[in-house]
Amino acid sequence: MFVTTQFAEGAGRLWWLELEEAVAWLDRISVNVGEETIAAPASTAEEKQAAFERLYWALRRGPEERLRATVALLAEAAGVDGARLVRTLCLGWDEIAALAREPNVTIGAHTLSHPMLAKWPAAVARREMAESKAGIEERLAVPVRHFAYPVGDPASAGAREFALAEEVGFVTAATTRPGHLFPAHASHLHALPRVSVNGLYQSEEALRAMLSGVPFLAWNRGRRVNVA
Ligand SMILES: [Zn+2]
Repeated sequence: MFVTTQFAEGAGRLWWLELEEAVAWLDRISVNVGEETIAAPASTAEEKQAAFERLYWALRRGPEERLRATVALLAEAAGVDGARLVRTLCLGWDEIAALAREPNVTIGAHTLSHPMLAKWPAAVARREMAESKAGIEERLAVPVRHFAYPVGDPASAGAREFALAEEVGFVTAATTRPGHLFPAHASHLHALPRVSVNGLYQSEEALRAMLSGVPFLAWNRGRRVNVA
């Protein structure tokens, strides 16, 4: 279990859920994202889905400050209380401490504030990694040896982040690049792939296909290791 320390403290922002709730409440969206104005109806479920997808990906492509500021505007317009989302949905330190005592649970780090690390200066990225590691170790009195990159796609975690994760003392770090583990990953322990089981692909058939590895070989065009 990878812990984002601000979420454990009831702070920080689950911006993707703020966006989801804002679109759920609003009947139409109109917002500037850089040069682009995104205006879309959002009264039916289909319209909401389409508006969310458009907004989400337009924001994901740009700087994270803009993403967070824009989502805050939409959340305010929709009366969405981001702080309540964190307090309602995230485990607190006491609950995480109880989990950490379970023999089959390993606690890893997932930064202080859940940023897309590659979009920030190196010093910020390093602090997010090192201070979350130190903070969890101090709070739970367990060693924190593993890390997961927030968001974890190539635009959030690349070569610089892989090197930083090693430098600040993590033994492994996981991306969200889709794939199975192969022996060659032994030389890329800070760029591990992931099989995402997240509720969107939970049919038994889909899960079996994912576990076979076939979709990932196709996705990765036969490459077993994707660390560039
Ligand atoms: Zn995350």
